[in-house]
Amino acid sequence: MLSNCRFLLTASPLHAALLSAAYTIRVEPSRIATPLAPDRYRLQLTVSRDTHDRLRRAQALLRHAVPSGDAAEIIGRALRLLVEDLERRKAAQVTRPRAVQDSGGTSRQIPAAVRREVWKRDGARCAFAGAYGRCRETGFLEFHHVQPFAAGGKATVENIELRCRAHNAFEASLFFDSGRADVVREVPPAWE
Ligand SMILES: [Zn+2]
Repeated sequence: MLSNCRFLLTASPLHAALLSAAYTIRVEPSRIATPLAPDRYRLQLTVSRDTHDRLRRAQALLRHAVPSGDAAEIIGRALRLLVEDLERRKAAQVTRPRAVQDSGGTSRQIPAAVRREVWKRDGARCAFAGAYGRCRETGFLEFHHVQPFAAGGKATVENIELRCRAHNAFEASLFFDSGRADVVREVPPAWE
């Protein structure tokens, strides 16, 4: 019996980007998404039986709101929930943020309010700016101390920036290999 089912559906560019980001295997968006129009994409992917069954279940539960059972609409709704949940965890993006006790940034722990502000300021994208411009990575993002914590850097909005895993590791290796904090402090990126 077949364990995989194949879907063809259309989605917005945002959904296409989210899909590619959600899959930790590095699948290039162009391999599953074909642009049809400026705001429409055709996605082609293979899913497990479990995912197929969940889609069918969602279609049944949403019959009142999406009578056609449109898979693109249902997957769009699912991705919105997924992204909200992930951003809430990753960047403390909550609708009503609680006031946070200001620790002065002296703890390695980055306060939720700082993570939330940095995530928003950096546009949920790596803020490493090198010779070829700013990094375009939006996956595997980590909160990076510009002035390393080991060198007295604080967990403040001013000292925390988003980095992709590769750039975070790169800058950490520069610091710990050299033993000098100054060499890892790149030019602050121009926020878009
Ligand atoms: Zn990067």
